[in-house]
Amino acid sequence: MYCTNCSNEIDEKAAICPKCGIATPLYLEDEKSNDSGSIGWGVLGFFLPLVGLILFLVWKKEKPKSAKMSLIGAAISLMAIVVIIISILTIILIFELLIAFLVHYMP
Ligand SMILES: [Zn+2]
Repeated sequence: MYCTNCSNEIDEKAAICPKCGIATPLYLEDEKSNDSGSIGWGVLGFFLPLVGLILFLVWKKEKPKSAKMSLIGAAISLMAIVVIIISILTIILIFELLIAFLVHYMP
């Protein structure tokens, strides 16, 4: 194959052109294959939403799949936190109403 930068002939398996040091399409493909989009990043984002958000911002361009997974994990985590807070507030409200009702109607 030929280098996309300097057009010199280079080894088929070369990841970087030995003449000019530019990454070959093979190297870029290798980088992409590192972008597994593993569910593990989603789990990490879930438990550490802040880390998930940072990973998303860092990986947005180089590893779009993994970035998306960590963002999804972080988003699910944040939604879970919101749901838990709303549930707790609802329970407190119900108890307050119940106590108010009992105080008002009990002899
Ligand atoms: Zn080159």
